[in-house]
Amino acid sequence: MSEKTRPTVVKALPFWLQTSLIGFVLIHVASLALPFVVGVGLKSLALCFGLYVMRMWGITAGYHRYFAHRSYKTSRWFQFVLAWVGASSVQKGPLWWAGLHRMHHRWSDTPRDIHSPKQRGFWYSHVGWITAPDHDGTDLALIPDFAKYPELRWIDRFHWVPFAVLTALCFAIDGWRGVVWGAGVSTVLGWHGTFFINSLAHVWGSRRYETTDTSRNNPVLALITLGEGWHNNHHHYMNSANQGFFWWEVDVSYYTLRALALLGVVRDLRRPPAHVLRDKLVGAAELASAKFSGARASAELKLIEARTAVGQAVESAELRLTEARTAVGQAVESAELRLTEARTAVGQAASEARTAMGSAVENVTLAAETRLTEARDAVESAVESAVDATAPAKN
Ligand SMILES: [Zn+2]
Ligand SMILES: [Zn+2]
Repeated sequence: MSEKTRPTVVKALPFWLQTSLIGFVLIHVASLALPFVVGVGLKSLALCFGLYVMRMWGITAGYHRYFAHRSYKTSRWFQFVLAWVGASSVQKGPLWWAGLHRMHHRWSDTPRDIHSPKQRGFWYSHVGWITAPDHDGTDLALIPDFAKYPELRWIDRFHWVPFAVLTALCFAIDGWRGVVWGAGVSTVLGWHGTFFINSLAHVWGSRRYETTDTSRNNPVLALITLGEGWHNNHHHYMNSANQGFFWWEVDVSYYTLRALALLGVVRDLRRPPAHVLRDKLVGAAELASAKFSGARASAELKLIEARTAVGQAVESAELRLTEARTAVGQAVESAELRLTEARTAVGQAASEARTAMGSAVENVTLAAETRLTEARDAVESAVESAVDATAPAKN
């Protein structure tokens, strides 16, 4: 029923009086109180458990993995079986459910995600979204690939029919006790099991992949929802028929789909390609960043060491330069001193030499003059003797 086709009288009622919420609350009250009235037996417990598993499978393998994500193919008649079983779990029609679920993936944890615990709180993500009148009608534009089948549009509109049939069967099998346990308690447990995936699976568990939302993997939720608890895997790669990506991730819905594929009922089960399993691993990103910061730290350490070594080399070079300057200065001083000493010595030697030369010249001159005087005296006496010798001869 679209927003336009909802009766005006329903739209005018306060939120808590609108039909889906009233039904929701009444079934809860009945499921809590009536088991004490009708009692319990093996048959009713088997009905409760069997119908829980069957309808959880209708939601996970049918509404979710087939209608919302098209993760495998099947025939038109089995497609209707999937729609029927899913609808018997009282979560409205397949087109309504799968269309809104596609919105959940497109706008995960943004204001347009209709059941994000991050946006509207835990309880709204758990039950508010399905009981609130805001999302009552089916928007066929969200799911044109299945809206083209008239039988699917029919069951989407009369989604309560499979539940009515199921209730009648429970009555046929185990009377009112069968109705209370099979249609009441089992339905309520199935609701909360499914809704945990919208609420708890975005809050509680671990994250393997860096998705843009808050989805988590949780083995407890995977057990009670037949494999839907690997929700972080699912947000990482939503088109896969298996949500447990590894053998230890229990995924009962996928095992049954494999069995149905062997029987030829379904085909072309999609699995995540190998690179998808390794892409965007949370640990890998942290490891890469740790390696990067480790490399950076070691580079910084080497830089500091190099700077220290350069600083020490500069200091030691400056020290040697100072020492060399001092040594050169001392050498110059000592050379100047020696030069002065040498000059003094040369000056003394020169003056001594001059003195010695002067006295030697005087002595030589004196001796020469003495000998000259003696020679003159000898010549004069010889001349006088000669004159004397010649004079008597004339007489
Ligand atoms: Zn989700
Ligand atoms: Zn999904």
